[in-house]
Amino acid sequence: MSVIDDLAALQDHDGIIRELEQQVNDIPIRRNQELEKIKVEQEDYERAKEVVQTLRTEVTRGELYSAELKETIQKFRIQTPSLKTQAALDAMMSQISKAEGDLKAAENSVIETHLKIEPAEKYAEECRLRYEEAKAEVDEYIADLDARFAEVKAKLDKANKERLEKIRPLNVPATKKFLMYYERLRKNRWPVVIKLVDNVCMGCHMELPPAKQQDARKNTALANDPGKMAIVACDFCGRIVY
Ligand SMILES: [Zn+2]
Repeated sequence: MSVIDDLAALQDHDGIIRELEQQVNDIPIRRNQELEKIKVEQEDYERAKEVVQTLRTEVTRGELYSAELKETIQKFRIQTPSLKTQAALDAMMSQISKAEGDLKAAENSVIETHLKIEPAEKYAEECRLRYEEAKAEVDEYIADLDARFAEVKAKLDKANKERLEKIRPLNVPATKKFLMYYERLRKNRWPVVIKLVDNVCMGCHMELPPAKQQDARKNTALANDPGKMAIVACDFCGRIVY
C-alpha cells in the first residue's frame, strides 16, 4: 500500500462519515419541520376548546347571577308587607321591578350563550379530528425519523471508531506530513486527494503544468519509500494530486 492508497482509503471512509454527519444534522431539522406542519391544526383545536370552555363558564356565571337575583327578589317580597309608608313601599316596588328586569336580562343572556355551546363544541370536535388525523400521519413519520436517527448515529459512532484504524498506517514518522496535510485540508476542500487527468486537477478543474504530472508519477515510483515522497498538490486548490 502506498501513501496515496492509504490516504484514498481514509478519504473513502471520511466520505461515509461526512454523509452520516449530514444525516445526523438533517434529521432533527426534518423532525421540526414535520411538527411545524401540524402546529396550525393544533392551535385551531386549542382555540376551539378554549371557546367552548369560555361559553360554559359564562353560562355558569349567568346561572349563579340569576339565582342570586331570584333570592334577592324573594327577600324583597318577604319584606314588603312589613313596610309602613307608601314611600317605602314604592321604593321597594321599584327595587323589585329593577331586579326582575335584571333577572330577565340575565336569563336571556344565559339562553343565548347556551345556544352557542353546541355549535362551538361541534367545531371543536371537527378541529380535534383534523388535528388527530394530521398528527397520526406526522407521528408515524416522526417515529420513522427517530428510528433512522438512532441507526445513523450508531453507524456514525462506529465509523468514527473505525477511522482510527484507517489513520494508523499514516500516523508514522515517514507519512505523518501527508496525514497532517490531509486533516488540515479536508475541513475546507473535499475530496482532498484527487486524480490528475491530462494535467487537469479533477478537484478544481484547472490545468496544471506537465511537471506536476511528473512529480506525481515520481511519487508513485517511490511508493515503497514514503519518507522520500513529497506532497504533490494542486497549485490552485491545494488538493493532493496523483
Ligand atoms: Zn485543484
